[in-house]
Amino acid sequence: MNRYDRQERVKVIGKAGQQKLTAATVLIAGVGALGSYTASQLLRAGVKHLILIDPDVVSTTNLQRQALFTEHDVADELFKVDAAKTHLLAIDHTAIIDVYPEPLSQSHLTDLKFDLVLDCLDNFRTRDLLNKVALKQQFDYIFASCAGTFGSVMAISPTNHPCLNCLYPNLDELKQTDCDLIGVNTALIPLVSGLQVSLALHYLVDKISVNFGQLITIDNWQLTFQNFKIKKDSYCPICGQQNWTMPTEQSSDQVTMLCGTQTYSVRMSRSPRLIQLNQWLTDQEISYRQFKSFSTFHWQGYSVSLFKTGKLLLYGVPTLNEAISIYQNLKRAMQSAIIQEATSR
Ligand SMILES: [Zn+2]
Repeated sequence: MNRYDRQERVKVIGKAGQQKLTAATVLIAGVGALGSYTASQLLRAGVKHLILIDPDVVSTTNLQRQALFTEHDVADELFKVDAAKTHLLAIDHTAIIDVYPEPLSQSHLTDLKFDLVLDCLDNFRTRDLLNKVALKQQFDYIFASCAGTFGSVMAISPTNHPCLNCLYPNLDELKQTDCDLIGVNTALIPLVSGLQVSLALHYLVDKISVNFGQLITIDNWQLTFQNFKIKKDSYCPICGQQNWTMPTEQSSDQVTMLCGTQTYSVRMSRSPRLIQLNQWLTDQEISYRQFKSFSTFHWQGYSVSLFKTGKLLLYGVPTLNEAISIYQNLKRAMQSAIIQEATSR
């Protein structure tokens, strides 16, 4: 039986289009509400190679709208990308799902090979990074966002068409304010994801006929759609000029909250290598799980991951002050492992 028979019968796709989908690799930035729907729809449509990037673990408040995840994933404290991979492989066991339980960084976008990026992010700080790297590396992406009952979708090819900053000239302002949570209606997500995946499939099958710069907005309470033609701004401070700078990495030892989560991120000024961290955890009789690029363990009742890059994530911490205090205690306690690292160099 041909799994994609019903889609190949769709004239605009056909057998040739289906082959293009099967051969494509799509990077999904953010595997929350939008990302989890979008990943499963793309896979069902036949896109068999997905790259998932998201630093967060599944929590109870995700279940209202993040359709791939279950209460088991919450209880097992799974990374969203790992839980998503398991559920996606249950849909199609032949798929290739590469997972990165890390915040999206410039190196993901420059080092990994993909045909298209889907912006399923929840904050404009990271979107700004994606927009700038897309301009620099000349790749295209599909922007999508959901807030309250209002969603927006647009295909972005920043080199020749409007960039994210042309769409939002107040992008700098949005970067400051987007941590304020206004909530998201459950039924909005599949509508916006459906539009985003429609654009992605269209792009992968026939990129030439994609209408870049066509902004579609939807209000799922009033049930209204709107369609705008966004113009490329020749004075745009990003795509119209060359003198902007890439957003910098967060400064070291500064604890910051990842937007819309209770996860805190900090880049350690001095961090032990994973092998020394694991030895230290063993000495302290703290059990840990080791992955390729990081180790995860419990400290003062909270889950912690330390990556080999020196980035540390604290999960489920209620306040910033508490996160700072946990981090400082941990750093102090880890001194012996850090010193060992320095002397072994
Ligand atoms: Zn622009």
